[in-house]
Amino acid sequence: MLAAIVTRVREPGGGIPLVSAYDPHEAVWNPPMPLLFQWHWRLEDRPLSAGAVRRLLNDTLAGSGLTDASGAPLRFTPHDFRRLFITDAVMHGMPPHIAQLVAGHRDINTTMGYKAVYPEEVITGHRAFIARRRTLRPSEEYRTPSDEEWEEFLGHFERRRVALGECGRSYSTPCIHEHSCLRCPLLRPSPAQRPRITGIRGNLLDRIAEAEREGWHGEAEGLKVSLAGADAKLAQLLKGPPVTMPDSIATALRNHAEGSCCLAAAAELLIAQAWLQRADFTSRFITVHRSPGSGKPMAVINWPAAVTALDTSLPCSGGEQRMLKIIASLADGIPVDLRDTITGLDDRNVQFLITAILRASGKLH
Ligand code: SF4
Repeated sequence: MLAAIVTRVREPGGGIPLVSAYDPHEAVWNPPMPLLFQWHWRLEDRPLSAGAVRRLLNDTLAGSGLTDASGAPLRFTPHDFRRLFITDAVMHGMPPHIAQLVAGHRDINTTMGYKAVYPEEVITGHRAFIARRRTLRPSEEYRTPSDEEWEEFLGHFERRRVALGECGRSYSTPCIHEHSCLRCPLLRPSPAQRPRITGIRGNLLDRIAEAEREGWHGEAEGLKVSLAGADAKLAQLLKGPPVTMPDSIATALRNHAEGSCCLAAAAELLIAQAWLQRADFTSRFITVHRSPGSGKPMAVINWPAAVTALDTSLPCSGGEQRMLKIIASLADGIPVDLRDTITGLDDRNVQFLITAILRASGKLH
């Protein structure tokens, strides 16, 4: 295929003509290069634009009569071939970190996300590991458990359920903390038990006041330890598990944007870009906390810091940079030069932007 393309564009002397192409993402003209996708028009050699390649592809697909599973005509974009190439290369043995360099990705997760199939080599490697371990372990361990053993196993999880939540002690170990769960670091409190813990806390405060009134100082000291335990469990419930996955952050962004058209438009625009997949963005500029009222996760973005980092420590393409500045402007009112930022946006981002403007103006929900 590559040889056919090279043969098509070669000059009579054997070289490939050098042509200059406009990069809409960086909004610059690239220096003349031996581009494979070029055509001869009158006396000039010109690059094929992404739009032209897309049109040619879809014309070819329409001519082939191929359809997808729902019967609609198949549609490809030039970017699909990039994904196909990386998928094929990795599936045929190219190490993922080399594929990452070939694709020019900053983050290997982007490269692995390109793979259109589940990483078979991971499954194969894991099966080989299990097979190796099995050969090393005594064969008598591989037997069907007796009914008693199975009941004992299930019973362990039953016994770990306590009034305030779930006990995290290991399988087959007894409680060595005398079931004082409120003070115990192994207790994972259940959100449903929040009112109960709040009630216990109120009761502890009353008892501490009584103990101090009556001069029972030893009793007051012990109760204060329990009170600190109750406070720690309530704080644990309020904090919840850390929100780090892109989907969870997206939900937290939408929660925070509720009630504000501009914030909602900015959130959807950001979610449609690849920024939530980037740990160097989410870990540095997004803070997720729980709403004290509803307990819902809320994501807040430090936009001034993120926009400042664009010019220093947050590497990205010109297109990504411009989109992030537009989102920052929608979300936080940070001034943006529309003439510079809108010029060169690709069709996809223009569509996203139109939708965001409709959403920000309250005409789309
Ligand atoms: S005191 Fe700790 S170890 Fe014991 S049951 Fe309660 S949570 Fe589990």
